[in-house]
Amino acid sequence: MGKIIAIASQKGGVGKTTTAINLSACLAVKGRKILVIDSDPQASLTFGLGIRKNGEKIKGLYELYAGKATLQEVLSQPIENLYVIPSRIDLFMAELEIFETEQREKRLKFLLESFKDEFDYIFIDCPPSFSFLTLCALVASESVIIPVQCEQFALEALRIFIKLLWRIKGSFNEALELEGILLTMFSKHINLSRTIAEDIKRVFRSKIFETYIPRNIALSEASMNGIPAIFYAPDAYGTIAYSELAQEIISRHSPS
Ligand code: ADP
Ligand code: MG
Repeated sequence: MGKIIAIASQKGGVGKTTTAINLSACLAVKGRKILVIDSDPQASLTFGLGIRKNGEKIKGLYELYAGKATLQEVLSQPIENLYVIPSRIDLFMAELEIFETEQREKRLKFLLESFKDEFDYIFIDCPPSFSFLTLCALVASESVIIPVQCEQFALEALRIFIKLLWRIKGSFNEALELEGILLTMFSKHINLSRTIAEDIKRVFRSKIFETYIPRNIALSEASMNGIPAIFYAPDAYGTIAYSELAQEIISRHSPS
């Protein structure tokens, strides 16, 4: 049974897309069949996985929402076991175009229903806002990974986001759970980073992944080159952390 997991936070630049790319790629390398959906009109995940068409428009999530393409027509496969529903800036239009339709917030959930069990995991990379696209992702998902960068006001922002999650759970998707809070871009040499991580751990304890992601330029460089870090810089410590996160998720869902 495929598990649908949103990677979300209202904050930008906290590592959502980097996590979606590298967690997906590491799970794919470990033999899991993965679908990752770019649900951000900025399309960083699409670029970060090197999905480009020469001169032609990439068909993706917008076309699926608008009923203008089938899954087979939009799917890309950058590496073995990893499938992608890409996106481009037109995804902004989805919000306006399906504004009037009934049960519009369930659109992605209905789209995923027919093929969800073909995959082990489906990840949805969300935009940095409380937008319609985020709502659709959270309504379609069984759980959420919240990446948190240990910087000023991180704890406050996290509390606000979790409140929103419980509201969505109450009104739209009672199955929604918190998969975990992921500390990202962590620098153990920076006092502020350590203090904030400790505050978050005190409040959210068991909800924090054991694995944390260190700040590592190799992860940025891999995305800029359109190659998952597991292939671009397999020995980098950031890559190893994402591989450990993949293992933590596998162990959680298939206890021995
Ligand atoms: P979001 O999707 O939440 O906006 P991104 O994943 O795009 O965040 O990350 C924001 C920026 O930080 C990008 O330039 C990305 O390459 C960089 N970045 C993300 N994670 C790390 C990390 N662990 N170490 C160094 N740079 C990172
Ligand atoms: Mg992003």
